[in-house]
Amino acid sequence: MPVRVAEEWLATCGGCEVTILDIGEPLLNILPKLQFVHMPVLMDNKYFGQTGEKKALEIPQADVGIITGSIRNKENRHIAEEMRKKCKTLIAMGSCACYGGIPALGNLSTKDEILDKVYRGSKSTDSASNPNKDIPEMEDRVYSVAEVVKCDIELPGCPTSPELFAEALTALLEGKPFKLSEKSVCDECPTKREKKAVSNLKRPLEPIEAKPGQPLSEVRCLMEQGFLCQGPATKSGCGGTTDKTPRCIKAYMPCRGCFGPIRKGANPMVDMMNALSTAGLKADQIADRAATFNRFIGVVGRLRPAAGPRR
Ligand code: SF4
Ligand code: SF4
Ligand code: SF4
Repeated sequence: MPVRVAEEWLATCGGCEVTILDIGEPLLNILPKLQFVHMPVLMDNKYFGQTGEKKALEIPQADVGIITGSIRNKENRHIAEEMRKKCKTLIAMGSCACYGGIPALGNLSTKDEILDKVYRGSKSTDSASNPNKDIPEMEDRVYSVAEVVKCDIELPGCPTSPELFAEALTALLEGKPFKLSEKSVCDECPTKREKKAVSNLKRPLEPIEAKPGQPLSEVRCLMEQGFLCQGPATKSGCGGTTDKTPRCIKAYMPCRGCFGPIRKGANPMVDMMNALSTAGLKADQIADRAATFNRFIGVVGRLRPAAGPRR
């Protein structure tokens, strides 16, 4: 009997669904064991029947449920709760589902501020009242799926890595335990650390000190070159299980922290302040530190509307 899988996307960009398709060959090995019974991104789906005639949300029973995206409105919450009821095992996939992700940057503003900006305060918008017909009511703030329902597996990353997803799914199918790494991106980074301090922070798109095609093992650590690299405070795993080189570093770009904190309860902002000062960089050169260091993890209690200008 194939394993029944249900997938749902809430406040999301769809990038995590691309990750599922991106698994490549290992997906071909897993696919015969799976039966996707619900996946709105790929299949026509009517939550309340073909003509809206049903009263209750229709999500079929499944062995494994996968949810991407965060919870921005009451419909998102309702779907997450229904998925929890219908799925034996639930996977929160991607940093939006685990930590709020990019949508949780909205937690820097109140719901009223956001609605005012979108429907009245934007230069490109004709001022109008808030729409209130046939659309779900917004939540007071963005929540992660993991805050609202119990998730059996949380796979962070924006998006998570296809290898990590395949590994988690295979472990589930084989009844084996699955555990995320508690190492940092720096632990998997092959760049060369010279422990020499720099003083000025570079802009993200300034060229790095590397010749075209130069092996990463000969390239100096990007933080030591003056780039804001969040590798010291970010969980490893984005590079997958074979090569392990972190995804952005492989592209000669600094880590932006999408895999979230190394372990539960860690505070990436404090960890990054320490790492920056060790590299000789001053944190006050970063314009919006709360948003920068919590870009993907806004619901972990750190992003909230500010009374005055943010630091
Ligand atoms: S985690 Fe990133 S890729 Fe996945 S849905 Fe959220 S924004 Fe998109
Ligand atoms: S700070 Fe960035 S470039 Fe330097 S070792 Fe860590 S991940 Fe690599
Ligand atoms: S290097 Fe950092 S930002 Fe890039 S994918 Fe990995 S964890 Fe995410």
